[in-house]
Amino acid sequence: MADSMSAGGAGDLLADSVPVDDFVTWTEWALARVGFRPSNCLALVDVCRDELMADFDEQVSEVWGRPFDIGSLAGLVFLGRTGLQAALSHVPGEDGRHRFAAFCFPHVGIDDDGTIGRVQRRGMSRASAACGALAAFRAELSEPRGEATLDVDDVEQSLLRMRLGALVPDGQVPSLLDLTELARQAAVSDVHRFVDLARGHEPVDVAYISGIVVHLPEGIDHVAAVQAEVVIDGVVIRLPH
Ligand SMILES: [Zn+2]
Repeated sequence: MADSMSAGGAGDLLADSVPVDDFVTWTEWALARVGFRPSNCLALVDVCRDELMADFDEQVSEVWGRPFDIGSLAGLVFLGRTGLQAALSHVPGEDGRHRFAAFCFPHVGIDDDGTIGRVQRRGMSRASAACGALAAFRAELSEPRGEATLDVDDVEQSLLRMRLGALVPDGQVPSLLDLTELARQAAVSDVHRFVDLARGHEPVDVAYISGIVVHLPEGIDHVAAVQAEVVIDGVVIRLPH
């Protein structure tokens, strides 16, 4: 496992978490300082398909405008070079530079008992899994592994199995939180790669903002483990959160 993976529990996760609206306000402030404004960049939002992520999506949209949606199950990113090229053709370029603000946010639930991976959903009497796709993948890791191949009847989950399976040593079953962090790292790394493949000769500056959305009881969402950096003309500038 990578050093940067934290194996902490619910307490560690929440220690540096903030409400989603505070986080979104921070992004507007932090990115303005490096020349990224809602009027001159396109938001790429990478979140899981789960309806629990709708609120996060809306709050980001309220500040950054309607986003180009790049997320698949578990917040992995499978749109590839062609998808990124499509997004690139929609980016404002008033000053000759194109700017993306990429938000990569896998998610995890915490229930009333502090159990990571469970969330109480509206209208359901029992807690269910979040992220369900990661929980399903994790359950498979306790079984002997076959060769991961593309399943045309289960495209995204089979791609998830191939992408994350390659990062988990045989015989290991990481915690759900560690898998969530692994999904974050994979998503950011894949967006980097797709942007580089799509950009051609055009100047494209990108803000990479990532973290984990934590669904707390009572329908409250927080954002934890935020990491942010911008790459402007190839120079990386970290944005401390
Ligand atoms: Zn999910």
